[in-house]
Amino acid sequence: MTEKRQILVGEGLFTWPSDKPKLIATHCKSCGDYFFPKSFTCHNPKCKEKQVEEVTLSQRGKLWSYSVLYYPPPPPFVPRDPFEPIPIAEVEIPEGLKIIGMMEGIKPKDIKIGMTLELTVGTLYTDKNGNDVIGWKFTPVKA
Ligand SMILES: [Zn+2]
Repeated sequence: MTEKRQILVGEGLFTWPSDKPKLIATHCKSCGDYFFPKSFTCHNPKCKEKQVEEVTLSQRGKLWSYSVLYYPPPPPFVPRDPFEPIPIAEVEIPEGLKIIGMMEGIKPKDIKIGMTLELTVGTLYTDKNGNDVIGWKFTPVKA
């Protein structure tokens, strides 16, 4: 029997392990732009200096848009059985970026544009070998 492992969905995307996980991004000190995932340079074509630094992004943001997957996504994603609709959020954070991620802890009928969401890190899906694939998600902040 093989041991179940935790696999990151990608390297260098978020602080892990961490009680308060944060996305890792690039901030350009010259023009002020942010980039996620992090980058080796600034991608603003008007920026001349391109002095970049690695930063972590705000954990909270506002729901800017969303969609709901009512059908199981294709492999390698292995949906829960029975399948439940998966809300996908586009969250605007104070740095001005819009981050896309699965929402959890809410039913599609309760989702409201503008609601505050918090970044969490957890299992996105279980792969065919039974490993948990770990990535970021968004959870509603209770008022
Ligand atoms: Zn720049």
